Amino acid sequence: MGYAIAIDGPAGAGKSTIARLAAEKLGLIYIDTGAMYRGVALFFIRNNIDYTDKEQAQKVCEDIDINIIYEDGAQQLILNGENITSHIRNEQIGKAASSVAKHICIREKLVDIQRKLACDNNVIMDGRDIGTKVLPGANIKIYLTASPAVRAKRRYDELIKKGIECDIKDIENDIIARDNEDMNRAVSPLKKADDALLLDTSDMSIDEVVAYINNIYKENTL
Ligand code: C5P
Repeated sequence: MGYAIAIDGPAGAGKSTIARLAAEKLGLIYIDTGAMYRGVALFFIRNNIDYTDKEQAQKVCEDIDINIIYEDGAQQLILNGENITSHIRNEQIGKAASSVAKHICIREKLVDIQRKLACDNNVIMDGRDIGTKVLPGANIKIYLTASPAVRAKRRYDELIKKGIECDIKDIENDIIARDNEDMNRAVSPLKKADDALLLDTSDMSIDEVVAYINNIYKENTL
């Protein structure tokens, strides 16, 4: 295995923003595992497949080929040869991803890909089960969180900036519902690994969080 930083936490905690910036600063490859679950969800949606159907999920695993490539340093998700990166960033896909992520066969397939990537590269990987399941031997583990209200406000600001009208209370309710699903599922639920550092970013800026990770990395690699 290469050098690995595992970042887990609930929806909207800022994991991908932080991990992307930290990867740049530390010269690591950033791997966004949520994008992979979103890619599988897009396949279910496009093919009108019931998210809860176990047999269909098994068939999906056989039918899909998921690959990660990098363009100008940015992760691109390739599903059966098509670059679907620009199709997976919306709330419908986020919710669907949370449903399809409950299937063991899908998790096993994606965990395999994630471990291979971490074997061949020095990585910072974010998701829900990185410290507990995918890379239990990671050099640094961080559990990144913030209060639901703060996470909803950040998501709201992001959407408004893109010109998308939305209701902050609806966003907070969606975030709480997705946390519940992810924390209470039977397979690899979201939880802090015993040896992960807990970082509540409710009152921290992005730069402060990146600096914190940079410091831990320096201490760890001295
Ligand atoms: O992080 P993101 O919001 O893109 O993840 C979408 C969904 O994918 C999560 O709500 C979760 O259910 C699932 N996921 C997971 N394990 C991971 C990453 C994401 O179950 N390692």
